[in-house]
Amino acid sequence: MSSSITFHLSFTEPQAHYVDVQMTAQGFQDHDYLDVKMPVWAPGSYLIREYAKNVERFQAQNDQGESIPFEKINKNTWRIFTRTQDVRVHYSVYAFERSVRTSFIDAQHAFLSPVGVFLYIKDQLEHAVRVTVDLPEGWHKISTGLLKINEHSFLAENFDMLYDCPFEIGNQNTWLFDVDGTLHECAMVGRADYDQEQLSADITQIVREENKIWGLNPNDYYLFITHHSSGGNGGLEHLNSTVLTTSRFCYANSDTYKAYLGLVAHEYFHLWNVKRLRPKTLGPFNYDEENYTTALWMMEGFTAYYDNLVLRRCDFYNEEDYLRQLAIDFNTVYNRPGYQIQTAAAASFDSWIKQYRPDENTHNTSISYYNKGAMLAVALDIKILAHTKGEKRLDDVLRIAYEQFYLIAGSGFEEQEFQDLAEKATGIDLSDIFHAAHQLTELDYNSYFNAVGYELIDTNEKENKPLSLGIRTNTHDTRVMVKNMDRDSAAWQAGLQVDDELLAINGYRIEDNGKAIDYVLSTSQIGDEVQIIVAREGLLETITLKLQESNKKSFMIGRLENASAEQRKLGDIWLTLT
Ligand SMILES: [Zn+2]
Repeated sequence: MSSSITFHLSFTEPQAHYVDVQMTAQGFQDHDYLDVKMPVWAPGSYLIREYAKNVERFQAQNDQGESIPFEKINKNTWRIFTRTQDVRVHYSVYAFERSVRTSFIDAQHAFLSPVGVFLYIKDQLEHAVRVTVDLPEGWHKISTGLLKINEHSFLAENFDMLYDCPFEIGNQNTWLFDVDGTLHECAMVGRADYDQEQLSADITQIVREENKIWGLNPNDYYLFITHHSSGGNGGLEHLNSTVLTTSRFCYANSDTYKAYLGLVAHEYFHLWNVKRLRPKTLGPFNYDEENYTTALWMMEGFTAYYDNLVLRRCDFYNEEDYLRQLAIDFNTVYNRPGYQIQTAAAASFDSWIKQYRPDENTHNTSISYYNKGAMLAVALDIKILAHTKGEKRLDDVLRIAYEQFYLIAGSGFEEQEFQDLAEKATGIDLSDIFHAAHQLTELDYNSYFNAVGYELIDTNEKENKPLSLGIRTNTHDTRVMVKNMDRDSAAWQAGLQVDDELLAINGYRIEDNGKAIDYVLSTSQIGDEVQIIVAREGLLETITLKLQESNKKSFMIGRLENASAEQRKLGDIWLTLT
């Protein structure tokens, strides 16, 4: 008997945030039982999310509708005891977490993150899957990157594809536009005032620019699902779709609109970088546990570098805007003391327990592989440009790596293999930068920027820097609470604690306007002692701090005065419009 797996989705209680799932599995009974499993994480978002927690009312039946016994054997596996060749599994999934990697259902629409909705049969991830969807009354559209059989039925060649194709179901506003042979579709969810034509034109420019970098667009069809929210930005990449969250008001302001276009450019870039050109450990995925890699500084960092650069190449950013965006990466990294104790590669490896699980001490112990990776990417891009006299750049390395590792070998890469290929393709020793991803020693970034006629300057690097306690605060009602503190700052050394309520400094009452602290800092000298009274766990304490200079950085990137004609020429190539 040939085997088949089909899912039927229906929504009997969307207002209560449920999707009802019927899975039919035929022809799989080689043992006395069948194990069905729910993934624990979503590729692209490196955190164990325990999607099985939302599964309830699980039942198994034979084709006669008779119940079959089952048992949960671990947190995400149900063992169904039967030898019948036709197993029906019913369950409901509760979906009330608004994000790009979790499902959310209400009376208006359903966003389904497939890793949290569809069970797979153990050892059958390669199997094809068919999905049909019953629309609730009043819902008219289904948007997904899966192959469409008819209005309500879709086919995935395997579970990797199914898990890579989210569903937006409801009454989203959709429209299509072609870009150089790839059909693109926007599916806009929730109220927002965007200009369809402008958006299609702007996305077209981004797609063309990225096609140029990679040389080939592998998709016939690509779907942008955009959720409009009251705040917050984010995206998740897929092979032929992406899910974006942006403020519903973002289109009204040029800066926030460009930030949205930056998100579009970022997630679209991922259709190559990470979804196809990827480290060996990132596919095929193990959906049961963490999949570790040190290479997210390349996958996310390079993508973060190019999202802004593509906006510059499309002329959405002028040179000054672009350089300001690039400087944010440097400021973000160097204003977090964690850069002194965590490498970019370690940040990648530990994303499961650090990047995605921040706490009050995170900025002291870790860096973001997005920002640090973008810094390393610009160093690579410029070094290649300078040493090849403008003949080659990072674009060329990425295109060749995509061809070699994905199109030809059909496999992932080890970091060393990527470095070897980059060095072979450019004829340049790039070990300084690849090693820097694994070391705490910082590159001298100006040695790279200078080569193309630019410089990185810390505008706070001057005499008489302001004094600082080294804390950030939150205000609850009128109470000023310590939110976090920087490693080795005055507050850190004196023993102020997170959640201390700040009451007085040198006898002045601390109000929520911050004036007392500002006054004391502005009238003191380095090394002066100040007394702070705090309330901690219901008791008052007096803490003496020895004041230090602020070590806050404020980097700017600009043209180098007295740059040679050669440097200027290379700089023009670096930031040229294409
Ligand atoms: Zn990304």
